[in-house]
Amino acid sequence: MAQRKNDSKNAFPLKTTALAAVVALIQGCAQTPPRQQAPSEATVAAHVAAATHAAATDLAPLLTLCKPAPAARPAQAELDKGLAAFIAKPAPPPGQAFDNLYFVGADWVSAWAIKTSDGIILIDALNTQAEAAALIEGGMRKLGLDPAQIKYVLVTHGHGDHYGGAPYLAEKYRARVVMSDIDWTMTETRLEFATPIWGAPPKRDVSVKDGDRITLGDTSVSMYITPGHTMGTISPVFDVTSNGQRHRAMLWGGTGFNFGKDVPRLDAYIGATQRMGAVVQSQRIDVLLSNHSNIDGSQAKLAALRQQPAAAANPFVLGTPTVERSLAVMGGCAQAQRDRFLLQ
Ligand SMILES: [Zn+2]
Repeated sequence: MAQRKNDSKNAFPLKTTALAAVVALIQGCAQTPPRQQAPSEATVAAHVAAATHAAATDLAPLLTLCKPAPAARPAQAELDKGLAAFIAKPAPPPGQAFDNLYFVGADWVSAWAIKTSDGIILIDALNTQAEAAALIEGGMRKLGLDPAQIKYVLVTHGHGDHYGGAPYLAEKYRARVVMSDIDWTMTETRLEFATPIWGAPPKRDVSVKDGDRITLGDTSVSMYITPGHTMGTISPVFDVTSNGQRHRAMLWGGTGFNFGKDVPRLDAYIGATQRMGAVVQSQRIDVLLSNHSNIDGSQAKLAALRQQPAAAANPFVLGTPTVERSLAVMGGCAQAQRDRFLLQ
């Protein structure tokens, strides 16, 4: 218990102790600097150092967020080239992460199926109808799930790698498509990224706001709006069980800073990581998932689960202090990027 307590104390080093120490170190002064410092190369370095410290070794993949982000959105042609290469990569096998949670994703982008007593809640729908058919429907069948049981398709945010397969699943299975009101409006009025490689956006259906819940059978999924990656990104929170033991999971719905030089969005992102840090602590959230497997390491974790004895510890269970540290890393990298933009 003492270890957990210590870890959770250290999980938010960005605004206070560790950051102050790092800034003091860099500036060679013993005094604690003011909380809101004017951005400088030193504050960028201090935020990166704090994020790196929070990441330790286990969360190092998250530090890709600390690399400088471009000030302009990628051009369409560049985006299309990258997407085509991602989609061409062979998909990993589908897998079961928890008693009630299944991975049915592609190599680059993930889709997750929550099995409830009254059907399936699918989180995200991949890039295209073809991927939804091959990987979501095909993956579910391989895992013994019936895609006709999909009742909801929860789209974490309005980018096509998450909604591209949604219209197909919605039409075929009469599944309800859930997105935040903000991102429905974005997809209806001004797509942030538009490419024919992705399936078309779904038609507005169930619109949720922060604090709403989707309940299906014995399972409730709480919707937290965590703005930044898009302004209506949903990070769902729900229960999972592993060998019958209950855990609380959050899926961080949008991670990258691919929106160009937009300081208010980074401010929103920083605020979302701080707010969700408090939620993680109060709800003892101990599982952090992503919709991209390079962020949460889901492919490696699923591979480990396939190899290990059923009673061994589930690698998806990180513990609450580690989930808090993850948010501290993401928030710290966002602060570094904010200061970089302010210096440009
Ligand atoms: Zn996105």
